[in-house]
Parts: sequence; structure tokens; C-alpha cells
Amino acid sequence: MHEMSITQSVVDICLEHSAGRRVLSVTMEIGALSGVVPDAVEFCFTACCQGTLMEGARLDIIAIEGVGRCTACGLEFSRKSLFDPCPACGEYGIEQLAGEELRVRELEIADDPLS
Ligand SMILES: [Zn+2]
Repeated sequence: MHEMSITQSVVDICLEHSAGRRVLSVTMEIGALSGVVPDAVEFCFTACCQGTLMEGARLDIIAIEGVGRCTACGLEFSRKSLFDPCPACGEYGIEQLAGEELRVRELEIADDPLS
């Protein structure tokens, strides 16, 4: 399950940014074609936060739909996989517009440093 190492690095990044303060919530964007399962990230998040300044932090996941544009006919369409051809002309040359996101969008950090 590679979600565990991905989630661990997300937690590490958040802790770095929080600079010793408590992290209240994290908002992540996860694209449908990123190869990462949001449910698994959520599960790993709780485990990764335990015993850190992020313990009890809320995780909000924004799921982003896969969108591609056909390089032959220009059609923009929703993609369930990176191997979907254009539904209009069957072309496989697809420019990926969205859906591969995997990033932290927002971090809510407590105002007061821990004493
Ligand atoms: Zn096309």
C-alpha cells in the first residue's frame, strides 16, 4: 500500500510548515487518476498523525475528476483511466488536463505555540 508512504510524507511536510504549532486540519487534493485511493489516505492519516503535533487533525480530501483533451479533435472529456481513448474519434493522443493532482492545498495551524 503506497498510500502509507505518501501520507507519511504529507504529514512530514505539514509538520515542517507548522513549525512547532499544532496542526488543526489539512486539505488535500487527490485526482481520480493519481493512483491514490482517498479512503486509504484517510486511514493512513490517522495513523501517521499519532504521537505528533498533528494528532487529532482533521483531513479534508477534495476529489478531482479526471479530464483529458483529445489532441486530434479537441474534445474535452471525463477520464476514468489514463488509458481511455477519445470517446468521439477513438484517438489515444490525449492531453491530460486534470486528475493527476496529489497535493496539500491548505493547512490550518493553531495560533498559539505549544508551551
Ligand atoms: Zn477525439
